[in-house]
Amino acid sequence: MSMEKRELVIIGAGPAGLTAAIYGRRAGLDVLLLEKGLPGGQINITDEIENWPGVIHSSGAELGQSFRKHAEHFKTEFRDCTVKGIEIRNGSKVVVTDKGEVEAEAIILATGAAFVKLGCKGEAEFTGAGVSYCAVCDAAFFEDEVVAVVGGGNVAVEEAGYLTRFASKVYLIHRRDVFRADRHAIEQALANPKIEPIYNTVVESIEGADLVEKLMLKNVKTGEKSELPVAGVFIFIGTEPIVDFLGEPGSLIKQTRGNWIETNEKMETSVEGIFAAGDLRDKPLRQVVTAAGDGAVAAMSAYSYITEQLHIESMLYQPEHVFALFSSSIDQEHMRLQAQAEQFAADNGVDLSLICAYKNKRIVEKLGLAALPAVVEFKKGEIVRQSQVASLAQLEEFIKGK
Ligand SMILES: Cc1cc2nc3c(=O)[nH]c(=O)nc-3n(C[C@H](O)[C@H](O)[C@H](O)COP(=O)(O)OP(=O)(O)OC[C@H]3O[C@@H](n4cnc5c(N)ncnc54)[C@H](O)[C@@H]3O)c2cc1C
Repeated sequence: MSMEKRELVIIGAGPAGLTAAIYGRRAGLDVLLLEKGLPGGQINITDEIENWPGVIHSSGAELGQSFRKHAEHFKTEFRDCTVKGIEIRNGSKVVVTDKGEVEAEAIILATGAAFVKLGCKGEAEFTGAGVSYCAVCDAAFFEDEVVAVVGGGNVAVEEAGYLTRFASKVYLIHRRDVFRADRHAIEQALANPKIEPIYNTVVESIEGADLVEKLMLKNVKTGEKSELPVAGVFIFIGTEPIVDFLGEPGSLIKQTRGNWIETNEKMETSVEGIFAAGDLRDKPLRQVVTAAGDGAVAAMSAYSYITEQLHIESMLYQPEHVFALFSSSIDQEHMRLQAQAEQFAADNGVDLSLICAYKNKRIVEKLGLAALPAVVEFKKGEIVRQSQVASLAQLEEFIKGK
């Protein structure tokens, strides 16, 4: 059985993936959107969203649903499956899922990010019952209670401050003897009478009956163990991209420290035809609005990539015999040669494709054309010869086979 082939495969139906689907469909692409859970992504578990422009107040689930409906309106095909890997086979991009494989002309990675877990006993058991990763979502449950924050970076220190609006006391537990946060944030937190730092300490377990009642702590310097009665614990030890399906970090796509996906402003990753959008990118602000913006850019870049590929293919790889002149449309000398070459080809009945090297950088790189302008001869889709050409005379010589 031959493999399913699609134009654009998007992985993850959060705000980034759903926006990419809307833009992709409106550009006329065949779009397949793969999602392992509920379309909508992280906002499905967000109580309230108050910073999505045009909507003063919405529950996360409602906003997620309206994103999904919007993508459905433009006839996006959704598939309920988990992506297990991406493979490049003979230059083709293959998305491997638990429900089969799909070959894609372009892929957009939009699998989001997740909070780093402490990994201690009781953490999973009490999530939603006193263990939280979001102060904005859950702080109000701890009115006049004692809570703990675990972490030492900006998020931990700032969220501890936010929690003091509700809690009677906030312990700030950090495994080192200094916080990693900005000086200003640290000063503000330490000046807050409701915040008490606990340095050099890790949480060994979270304990309670139905709800969190206490933390078992260990001082990493002295080894001393202690109990800390709290009604809640907020864990802010970082976020990480959901990219496990890409295998060993950096083995397929360039990733930065922390395994975030590196892209340029077109959302292009280090692999041709693979784009990334949303929280999994290395970027300064991870929010719905930035994820949606990334999704739009990624879809339009994927569209350009797919059409460029098709265009180039039809010009270079399909004809029996063709010459191609690669010159830059932003260089006057190149443009002069291009005009002369066009005239020469018309006068002599030569099949010559004129390709702007500036707009088609990928193919220039792929053909290894280090110096431009350059001419390449193709026969039945195979490269026969290539050379740099500085003048019409040199181009004529090449075409005549000298
Ligand atoms: C508690 C909380 C509160 C927040 N509050 C706000 C707020 O008020 N305002 C705001 O703007 N932002 C808020 N955010 C951040 C916002 O939700 C994210 O920035 C946004 O959802 C990122 O979108 P995304 O599309 O990149 O990823 P996500 O929303 O994470 O979506 C990724 C999707 O990919 C799917 N996926 C992952 N791996 C696979 C796989 N292998 N195969 C198939 N599918 C896969 C996931 O199931 C998920 O649906 C909040 C986040 C949280 C957790």
